[in-house]
Amino acid sequence: MTATTAVQNGGPYSATALSALARRHLWMHFTRIGTDPRAPVPIIVSGEGCYVYDADGKRYLDGLSALYCVNAGHGRPEFSQAAAAQLLELDFYTTWSYAHPRAIELATRIAALAPGDLNRVFFTSGGSEAVESAIKLARAYHRLSGKGQKTKIIAREVAYHGTTMGALAATGVTSLRTPFEPLMPGACHVANTDNYRWPAERDPLWAAEQIAERIAFEDPDTVAAVILEPVQNAGGCIPPQDGYFQRVREICDDNDVLLISDEVICSWGRIGHWFGSTRYGYQPDIITTAKGLTSAAMPMGAMIASDRLAEPFHTETGSFAHGFTFGGHPVAAAVALANIDLMEREDLCGHVLAKEGEFRATLDALKDIPIVGDVRGAGFFFAIELVKDRETKESFDDAESEHLLRGFLSGALYRHGLICRADDRGDPVIQLAPPLIADSEQFEEIGAVLRTVLTAASELL
Ligand code: PLP
Repeated sequence: MTATTAVQNGGPYSATALSALARRHLWMHFTRIGTDPRAPVPIIVSGEGCYVYDADGKRYLDGLSALYCVNAGHGRPEFSQAAAAQLLELDFYTTWSYAHPRAIELATRIAALAPGDLNRVFFTSGGSEAVESAIKLARAYHRLSGKGQKTKIIAREVAYHGTTMGALAATGVTSLRTPFEPLMPGACHVANTDNYRWPAERDPLWAAEQIAERIAFEDPDTVAAVILEPVQNAGGCIPPQDGYFQRVREICDDNDVLLISDEVICSWGRIGHWFGSTRYGYQPDIITTAKGLTSAAMPMGAMIASDRLAEPFHTETGSFAHGFTFGGHPVAAAVALANIDLMEREDLCGHVLAKEGEFRATLDALKDIPIVGDVRGAGFFFAIELVKDRETKESFDDAESEHLLRGFLSGALYRHGLICRADDRGDPVIQLAPPLIADSEQFEEIGAVLRTVLTAASELL
């Protein structure tokens, strides 16, 4: 793609003008506002496959699938065709009291793919709304079952579950919570499964037992649900120990506590299965999903609940008093159906499973660079934890982390044409989650850029 085309796709403004207008008018999410107003805003104008192009026509490897969501890759014509046809047939109708074919077809398709009896699909516009819906369903279910005191939610430290007030209460990132407190009462946090610094003799199921202890401490009669990601994103792609989810399932069953699997990232092939819970062989009561459901070509999320949770609502006047105008939007549903077709046709889950080892090996090969500590993750969802000292696993302090991640790495990686995430919501990590169509060529490119930039970062320190 030429620079001219890219700028044309950016509309009537030059790259410099777009940047100035973005600083003036576009309130970017989770973005520092006080940054030097002359510093250019990275403006992405088009995308194709695993690559995107900025307003100057420069190409980048999208090593993060935008935000862990463009799973099928950029610019898929299947989605524009599905959206255009749907806009002509039925642009919008609501799922409040009414239904329409695409929402029905999609719910049926999702129920067939979801594990066990997760047959009830409640659509939302994104992940936070799906988590919010799951928390409300857990409370409403227990109340209708005569256990109205069961309201508390147990989540894990450093986990990200969204930004709306209920989802934020489940989120375990202190810096995201404190500006908005007081939050929804009744959410508490236990240790996650990051075992990089665990003592060697620790029981591998220690983190699962933390949940049992917390339920006992809170009183099982007050706990509604546990919410966990199959592989925890924040903190750096933290996988579970073998048997972790089986033990958590037992703990939940023993205490009549619901298990919510937050798969906003870990579904739709990200870790090689339609649903992350299937990869680790556990049966949740609720799955929350979004992002890759439409490969991000339209905003859409869903809460998928078991038949058992719908039962108490089956009375003459029973209803779940909850909803969103755009839940099940026909255009988003049409795109999601096209996405599932595409994923099946191209066997994207099979591709991820076949290529996961090669992707991991690319990152493992960087372990000779002094600041590369741990490499962890699953599927096409990996993190590299950066450390000051590989032998002692000593991490960087806040000031060093700021200097390393924001002062150097984020900018350097971008300048070298790789979009990935340099994150310090736990210990400093670089995260990679390329589109599920990525292959050896992209892995090599990722490995080469990381080697150059991480070597330079090591020498800086
Ligand atoms: N849950 C998880 C596990 C997530 O990763 C995210 C977003 O990254 C959310 C919930 C919130 O999703 P959204 O940003 O679509 O509201």
